[in-house]
Amino acid sequence: MTGPQTSSGDPARPATRGQAGDRTIDPTAPHPPTARDPAMSPSPASSAQALLPRPIHAVPERPRPRLTGGAPEGAASLEARGVSAWFGERKVLDRVDLRMPAREVTALIGPSGCGKSTFLRILNRMHELVPGSSLAGSVLLDGEDVYDQAARPARVRLRVGMVFQKPNPFPAMSIHDNVLAGLKLAGLDCDDRPGLVEHSLQRAGLWNEVKNRLGAPGGGLSGGQQQRLCIARALAVRPQVLLMDEPCSALDPTSTRRVEETIAELGVDVTVVIVTHNMQQAQRVSDSCAFFLAAEDEPGRVIESGPTTTMFSSPTDDRTMDYVSGRFG
Ligand code: ADP
Ligand code: MG
Repeated sequence: MTGPQTSSGDPARPATRGQAGDRTIDPTAPHPPTARDPAMSPSPASSAQALLPRPIHAVPERPRPRLTGGAPEGAASLEARGVSAWFGERKVLDRVDLRMPAREVTALIGPSGCGKSTFLRILNRMHELVPGSSLAGSVLLDGEDVYDQAARPARVRLRVGMVFQKPNPFPAMSIHDNVLAGLKLAGLDCDDRPGLVEHSLQRAGLWNEVKNRLGAPGGGLSGGQQQRLCIARALAVRPQVLLMDEPCSALDPTSTRRVEETIAELGVDVTVVIVTHNMQQAQRVSDSCAFFLAAEDEPGRVIESGPTTTMFSSPTDDRTMDYVSGRFG
């Protein structure tokens, strides 16, 4: 293993993600492979790669396209400290502390309504866009508070990108232009736009399926392809963190598997925080999990967080065990 830098010079194909053969995963399997079993991999950050499949991408010849005005290079860590949230008078999150290490995949799990989406939106300053919302606490992005007075929300959202539940490409816009759409919005410049389109689609695992029809409208793709197009669009501005709110809940099992493969391949230069209701998916894609729960008429809290293998095999709280084993929620 050669670590995050690729020895081949291929930015789309991290060296850590190409070693374990071509196994496939079945999203409907009752006992999926535990990709996070520490006995099977040397470190938590690389364990996702150990079992997940590796599609063979074409190796781009040209150097990695350069962005001007973008986020700092490389994945960033996130840490929530004492995060609470309100909609009007109603408190919906209570003092959440959570570390989301760089280059890892953190899954947020828990029943509906316990504040997972709200928490996710707090991480990139989207919560404040909801009228009547408020929050307390801090969110550290590589150690700097994104709610610091000097922090600019647009800059935070550039560094911390988001993929939503329902794929939302611009339907009439071409696949090519969809990938570049965020660039214009963020006012970024790129020295090699075709290269950036290819690189982003490669990272999102969509390149081979669309490389011969980049001018076709994004709305003509299947649901799973549209979601990967949205991932490519989010990646094109090179965020350091990618937030994903139930990105597979509108997809069929085959598309779900493909998006999960994409997530597993991302971890080397982006940190992922994903909300999922699918416990098998949490096991397949995440390094660590946080279990959110809200008692009746109370705000949501993190009951427990930790390595995914521990959370699913020997959590400390009975409620976590009940939830991950499907007894409620
Ligand atoms: P989850 O993603 O875990 O299902 P949410 O973060 O969406 O939970 O919601 C947490 C609580 O906040 C819920 O009770 C929900 O009804 C409430 N809520 C979410 N969005 C809004 C909003 N825009 N206005 C008022 N209440 C909201
Ligand atoms: Mg939600």
